[in-house]
Amino acid sequence: MTTHPAPDSPARRPQSIIPPYMLEHISEHADGPVRDSAKKTLEHVRTAMAMPAKTEEGAIRPLLAVVPPAHVPGVVQRTIYDARHLGTLPGKLARREGQAAPTGSSSYKATNEAYDYLGATYDFYWKVFQRDSLDNKGLALTASVHYEENYPNAYWDGKQMVFGDGDGKLFNRFTYAIDIVAHELTHGVTESQNALLYIEQSGALNESMSDVFGAMVKQYHLQQSVDKADWIVGAGLLYKGINGKGLRSMAAPGTAYDDPQLGKDPQPATMAGFVSARPDNGGVHVNSGIPNHAFYLAALALGGRSWETAGKVWYQTLCDPSLSRTANFDEFAQLTIQHAKSTLGANQAGLIETAWKTVEVL
Ligand SMILES: [Zn+2]
Repeated sequence: MTTHPAPDSPARRPQSIIPPYMLEHISEHADGPVRDSAKKTLEHVRTAMAMPAKTEEGAIRPLLAVVPPAHVPGVVQRTIYDARHLGTLPGKLARREGQAAPTGSSSYKATNEAYDYLGATYDFYWKVFQRDSLDNKGLALTASVHYEENYPNAYWDGKQMVFGDGDGKLFNRFTYAIDIVAHELTHGVTESQNALLYIEQSGALNESMSDVFGAMVKQYHLQQSVDKADWIVGAGLLYKGINGKGLRSMAAPGTAYDDPQLGKDPQPATMAGFVSARPDNGGVHVNSGIPNHAFYLAALALGGRSWETAGKVWYQTLCDPSLSRTANFDEFAQLTIQHAKSTLGANQAGLIETAWKTVEVL
């Protein structure tokens, strides 16, 4: 039986990259160990993840971890742990800030990717927005890799990143895609702004922020202009042989994958396809396609580099104290236009307005 989450609980819930509907489809349509991993992960998403994150001692974790006392703004502080295929966090220390990359074993791949992409995400927020880590107070970044056995998911638990290795049939290891790492970390940014409650339209906006900033971290890392970017969330995450490009498409929501085992990408691109009253906190991973597509259209219309144009305005909107915690698409759209007028100018604000009109939010 599924229960509707209490309005205040979703914000404290770890947010995972693979939505429940995808795991449900796999549980019903895949075979053997792939099905078993999906079932187990679905159970985890529905039960353990529905509870506030707990420490080993059972106390509720603080929302964000303590800042290291010697922190210098602009200098990232990373620690990567190896959960050694167990479910206990954080696991064994694998790489500390400044340590050379461990080599010699394929299991270090995930450690080094997590280290590099945590660094790339920190760099993006610092260099582009002068934001000092997720909380803008220098939060040290912690991640655990090799979580459980064949775990097909990744999540941010309010304190650290957790990465599974994937099931080796449908999903690659979850450190593989830089935008997946940045997606999860951006949940920490949104949370520390105390913005966008993780349910219904505000929840879909919360999800969209993670996709939008995830895409920008990737584009910034590759120094890609908007016309060169792939606009796919999680490119390379699906195993070879699976019919799909990634988890979501910002350029064409609803077309990222169509596979017998995964199902078909259910995302709408416009309000005509808006889905109401469904599981997944009111369809947060489905309806996020609409604001995702608006961002894509705005970034394309403005041209150049996303983080210098539309991204700037989206960041100002996310950090605007007048953005309500339960904001709907319309409220968010109006605020982006306001910020665009003062930051980019009236013509550019007009292009952003057109993007929101194209997806039928305005
Ligand atoms: Zn998410």
